[in-house]
Amino acid sequence: MKRQTIFEKSRHGQRAYSLPKSDHAFDNYSPPPEYLRQDALPLPEMSELDLTRHFSELEKLNMGIDTHFYPLGSCTMKLNPRVNEWAAALSGFTRTHPLAPDETVQGNLQLINDLLEFLCETCGMSGGSVVTNAGAHGEFAGVQMIAAYHRSRGDTERTEILIPDSAHGTNPATAQMAGFETVTVKTDERGDVDIEHLRSLLSHRTAGLMLTNPNTLGLFSPQILDISTAVHKAGGLLYYDGANLNAIMNIARPGDMGFDVMHLNLHKTFSTPHGGGGPGSGPILCAKRLCPFLPVPRVQRTDNGDFKRIWRHEQSIGMMSSFQGTFAIYLRAFLYAKLHGQAGLRRVAEMAVLNANYLKKALSQLFTVPYTQHCMHEFVVQADNYLAEGGIRALDIAKRLLDYGIHAPTIYFPLIVKECMLIEPTETESKQTLDHFIEVMRSIVEEIKRDPEFIKQAPHTLPIHRIDEVSAAKRPVLSCCGSS
Ligand SMILES: *Cc1c(COP(=O)(O)O)cnc(C)c1O
Repeated sequence: MKRQTIFEKSRHGQRAYSLPKSDHAFDNYSPPPEYLRQDALPLPEMSELDLTRHFSELEKLNMGIDTHFYPLGSCTMKLNPRVNEWAAALSGFTRTHPLAPDETVQGNLQLINDLLEFLCETCGMSGGSVVTNAGAHGEFAGVQMIAAYHRSRGDTERTEILIPDSAHGTNPATAQMAGFETVTVKTDERGDVDIEHLRSLLSHRTAGLMLTNPNTLGLFSPQILDISTAVHKAGGLLYYDGANLNAIMNIARPGDMGFDVMHLNLHKTFSTPHGGGGPGSGPILCAKRLCPFLPVPRVQRTDNGDFKRIWRHEQSIGMMSSFQGTFAIYLRAFLYAKLHGQAGLRRVAEMAVLNANYLKKALSQLFTVPYTQHCMHEFVVQADNYLAEGGIRALDIAKRLLDYGIHAPTIYFPLIVKECMLIEPTETESKQTLDHFIEVMRSIVEEIKRDPEFIKQAPHTLPIHRIDEVSAAKRPVLSCCGSS
């Protein structure tokens, strides 16, 4: 059946609401005619019931964490606990105006203060800010703080940021947007930073190193202290991409590893929803010597125990967003952190690592495993061993998984692994779900052997079949037309 768009379903004169006429003069006010649009806007018109069905049907076409296993590596698609939603809906929070005077919003300000204290303790940092609304946004603030630090010392020749070739794409993008040249550090055969290559790149031009540990291959670097010592000796700073803290919470702290500034993705590790590009929350944390450069507004405890916002600070990199970030998101993260406590977060980390290693071991019978040591919260396997079977690629396997009601893992990232699948189960999945995933992967491998062409045309059961990925990415055409 052809699915109709909301425009095709529209019938002139239908309305999704009807309200009695208001008695208040203000509600019946009409703006002066010169401000009114002459032509009617071509908006769809529908009854409330048809509208509700339209969006409920669309919702069912989607794959989400609430409906499907979602092992999308580096994205930490864990349960979003419903108790978080209860807290975020409390009217004391939802009805606050961002410009309300400080003395009327003491609870909100204390929440920001207590959340940052909790995160600083978890990460071994001294101060922070919640104003940044995504991981990449936090990176941008943090790298600007590195620039401001060097500038404040008159150290103006530091124009380079070093970034490993396994890094998330946002790292080089951030460094370039902040005006730095990016220099790529090679990964060694164990999946770690090639420390000799790193040493050869360090100089008086090094502003800093951006690093993820565990990295995007799911591996923790045992040489992290040698790395941080080398960068500091050269006068550079260390930026920690803490998007994925899931493996190390309350086990290892970025501050103790020698990192100077970092961000966290609360919409990954701290269980708040990810959605269609936002809203998220990517707080930044830093060591003491970088605190003066944190963005504004900042929340400060006064001598009498009250809280106030500081809107200006001489050395600050300035404002990164309007007001103080996505309050309702980090409120959810605060509740998650408090309900678990530091000990509970350690258990989260342990279970995330256990689940990942369980899957890695089982899938190593089906795929090439480029790095054989224990993994952290995620791991990579390669589908290159099926290239010979009718040219089956990681993409084909990812598409076939959708037919089985499983969201695809991250594919072709990190870029340094051929036919890569980056798999992250998270701690909230049961052993039954993991076993089901392993069974499905086994079935797909059987199917590849029997009929590779069938796999190449997957998905077969979804409303949209195989699409041309390159055109979809490079020539997006926004259209109102439904698919067949
Ligand atoms: C997700 C992720 C980011 C970017 O976070 P956004 O919130 O999507 O901007 C950066 N680095 C790593 C390692 C990530 O996994």
